[in-house]
Amino acid sequence: MAKKKITVQKFGGTSVANAEKIKNAAMKAIAAAKGGNQVVVVASARGKQTDHLIADALEVNPNPPKREMDQLLSTGEQQTVSLLAMAIEGMGHKAISMTGGQIRMITDSVHTKARIKSIDASRIKKHLDKGRIVIVAGFQGIDENENITTLGRGGSDTSAVALAAALKADTCEIYTDVDGVYTTDPRIFSDAVKMDMISYDEILEMASLGAGVMHGRSIEFGKKYNVVIHVRSSMSDKIGTLITHEVPQMEGILVSGATIEKNLAKISLVGVDNKPGNAAKIFAHLAQAKVSVNDIIQTEVSTEKANISFTVGKGDFADAQKAVEEIKKKVNCEAFYRQDIAEISIIGVGMRTHCGVANMMFSTLAKEKINIDSITTSEIRISCLVDKEQGDKALISLCKAFELDKPVSKRSYVK
Ligand code: ADP
Ligand code: ASP
Ligand code: MG
Repeated sequence: MAKKKITVQKFGGTSVANAEKIKNAAMKAIAAAKGGNQVVVVASARGKQTDHLIADALEVNPNPPKREMDQLLSTGEQQTVSLLAMAIEGMGHKAISMTGGQIRMITDSVHTKARIKSIDASRIKKHLDKGRIVIVAGFQGIDENENITTLGRGGSDTSAVALAAALKADTCEIYTDVDGVYTTDPRIFSDAVKMDMISYDEILEMASLGAGVMHGRSIEFGKKYNVVIHVRSSMSDKIGTLITHEVPQMEGILVSGATIEKNLAKISLVGVDNKPGNAAKIFAHLAQAKVSVNDIIQTEVSTEKANISFTVGKGDFADAQKAVEEIKKKVNCEAFYRQDIAEISIIGVGMRTHCGVANMMFSTLAKEKINIDSITTSEIRISCLVDKEQGDKALISLCKAFELDKPVSKRSYVK
């Protein structure tokens, strides 16, 4: 008998928000099974359930222990998978739901942003071989001491792609409330255009710079293990966006997408003693506090003093502030904090071979009278921090300037 193909289907929160949507997801899974596939479904918590659970936690403790937070948040996904299994069984197909712990999705112990270390694919395969659709709770794992962990907000995408890699799945479909990856968030810029394909490198930058459509870590898995990811709508059968290594015309496209990250804080250490070892001291202390630091800028002000600034996600802000307050006397500096900022980025592999992109970005913002707080770049992106209240305006003006409201073939600079 020919070996069956394995399909992983992931359904996000809005795609399982109520009974009707759960039944719709169940039908998609059954259709894939009837099409000759072994099917693994990864599901998120229903609708805004994770937000509600966080609110519940904050009502009883404004600073809840992170282990208990994971214990609580994981219940959102656990509800969905059992309901989905019931719906599938109700439609006459065999199904079984599993938690992250039950499939031995082993992670490190960094609660609320754990990283996957290994998955025992044999536990899932055993059920698949019995003709069951296996429904796995996304976003959660278990550490080596059996504590429940979660992978960070939006982490079900990572569960799905990591499972697709571990099972050597033939397809990995991410069903969501948009019909693919757009040039920017269509909720902010309604003229954004859907992309047929996007490279791992570009979507990885977009995801880590605020494009919430995919969890950044999921793309790292996809790229490393060659999982072709198909982002598509749970409400239609339309082809969505393929995330893959090669994209035709890639070098000719100056800017593929733009993002905004509002969930950010900037920390500046001013007047740090300019001597070897001080940057190491600061960042070692932040690492010890398990703070993930983005975009570090250090500038020498004089032979005696230097300024260092960096950004952190809002979720890490309290820990970062505590760590900086502890270390600042040791490096003899003052610390300033800004939470009223947004980071606007433009991303494109084509930037490697084109000049003038930075100029066009800065002059577009200048025309809109938007002040730039700081600038960071990589080979394929430029990011500016701006006042949060000007963030959407900045994003929209850049989308228009780089013609992100037009299909690639219609953009004036694409040959
Ligand atoms: P799910 O619950 O299915 O995981 P998410 O809310 O996490 O869905 O992600 C889908 C949302 O991501 C869309 O509704 C859209 O507003 C937002 N988004 C942000 N940037 C983009 C982009 N570049 N392309 C498509 N959607 C985007
Ligand atoms: N339920 C989790 C969240 O809301 C994980 C996910 O949806 O991917 O962040
Ligand atoms: Mg999501």
